[in-house]
Amino acid sequence: MRATIMDEPLTLPLILERTERLFADVPVVERRPDGAVHRADWGTVCRRVRRLADALRRAGLAPGARVATLMWNHRAHLEVYFAAPAAGLVVHTLNPRLHPDELAYIATHADDHLLVVDEGLLEVLAAFRARAPFRRVLVVRHGATGALPAGCEDYEAFLAAGAADAPFAAVDERAPAGMCYTSGTTGRPKGVVYSHRAYVLHALMTSLPDSIGYSLRDTVMPVVPMFHVNAWGMPHAAALNGCALVLPGPRLDAESLLDLMETEGVTLAAGVPTVWLGVLRALDAAPGRRRLAEGLRLVVGGSAVPEAMIRGFDRHGVTVVHAWGMTEMTPIGSVFAPKRGFAGLDEEARYALRATQGLPAALVRMRLVDDGGRVLPWDGRGRGELQVRGPCVTGAYHGHPEDAESFTADGWFRTGDVATLSPEGYLRIVDRLKDLIKSGGEWIGSVDLENALMAHPAVAEAAVVAVPHPRWGERPLACVVPRAGARVTAAELRDFLARRFPKWWLPDDFVFLEAIPRTATGKFMKRALRARFRDRFRGAEGAP
Ligand code: AMP
Repeated sequence: MRATIMDEPLTLPLILERTERLFADVPVVERRPDGAVHRADWGTVCRRVRRLADALRRAGLAPGARVATLMWNHRAHLEVYFAAPAAGLVVHTLNPRLHPDELAYIATHADDHLLVVDEGLLEVLAAFRARAPFRRVLVVRHGATGALPAGCEDYEAFLAAGAADAPFAAVDERAPAGMCYTSGTTGRPKGVVYSHRAYVLHALMTSLPDSIGYSLRDTVMPVVPMFHVNAWGMPHAAALNGCALVLPGPRLDAESLLDLMETEGVTLAAGVPTVWLGVLRALDAAPGRRRLAEGLRLVVGGSAVPEAMIRGFDRHGVTVVHAWGMTEMTPIGSVFAPKRGFAGLDEEARYALRATQGLPAALVRMRLVDDGGRVLPWDGRGRGELQVRGPCVTGAYHGHPEDAESFTADGWFRTGDVATLSPEGYLRIVDRLKDLIKSGGEWIGSVDLENALMAHPAVAEAAVVAVPHPRWGERPLACVVPRAGARVTAAELRDFLARRFPKWWLPDDFVFLEAIPRTATGKFMKRALRARFRDRFRGAEGAP
């Protein structure tokens, strides 16, 4: 017997056709690089997506050819997000914060055919264009006129060649639709190629009420850049659900974000903890000054969310939802949701639970595996490498079909994260495998120490790294950024940690910095700290 259900392909055009019919008048607002706020709606966006898809087809790109972007979060980027896949092409987002050598490597490795770039990022492009394979470069000028550099074309003129009522291409749900490279914290960045099917399933699973939970009444603002893992799927999910969309452009300082959140009535925003720490500080500095939407939710992930941040936002009536994910997972892997019984927990336990990375998302399978390859029970204690599978998880890297380091023989993806899973299913990321600190043969988790330090009132940010030690192999060093105007000593911080951790976990030393160096995606660059303080404990003696 065969199932009798239609084999309708799960593609982005299937989403778009509904968006333009049902949600044409729903706002899509952008703040352009020059700071000006422009308003449009999904109807306009969908018409322009049809035009652009048609223009791309007329330009003669072969099916599956790469359309790269080098842009901030704004409407033109949104148009390419949908138009390239709808034309049977692949949108490949490039991160303008990367080093030109890395951009040249990634664009070449992906064989990017055409690039769409912000006028304000032409300088970034100039630093690697000669080493990149772009055949055509379209410049988004947001209404500006005047001469363009040699070898560049105007995005608007290109788009105008397409028809606003052109049909979308009939695409296979398994056809490639998008592409992203990992941050490359070890070795060269690796490419992940997303299918239409993965995008649609990801949009559906993150729409569930106990996941991110999008609604047509939401006004959604992805602060997470659109060049970083599909902006966590927000543009797709916003289209699917008919949410109003607010695209904040390049200005991501706290006041600029708060301005937009206030004037546009944002109800759901997403970004990394560093962005929201700044916003929290601004709210704390002037409580009650901002009129934020009632029920505002912030989805925070990309690195661990300190419990202190969740408490801090609660004081302003803003709910932090902790999520975990990876480029390789499209990217959402888990989201916090309170299970039955949560309300009966005491306050400490409630916050501790909310600071976990949450429950495995729908369609995501998880397991923990120890050093010896044994699968661990979900008992909340056993720490092991987190391995995942699912219809939105990559099964290989682009151009690396065999990769035994990243995939197990039985088909699971090795995340490189060390985690625990409680019997109720709450995931807790303990560390990156390579960031764990191995002291005298025992593991110390840097994330736990960092979160505890960031709960100290005088600490703005903290990163704890492993430093080679002659006796213990490695010992923790805490790098601390004090809050503006606050004073704190190493001894005070040590005492503060001693209340929560065994003595051998306490950092051997504390260094005070003005800022923690960051990766191109805003995460702490622990590699740089490890290199800088490599010799800190050389010649050290004695017990920790
Ligand atoms: P990326 O592919 O750049 O998104 O990086 C994925 C990695 O970021 C994960 O493997 C984790 O190590 C880290 N990460 C993402 N979200 C979280 C989170 N909520 N808590 C702790 N680490 C996280």
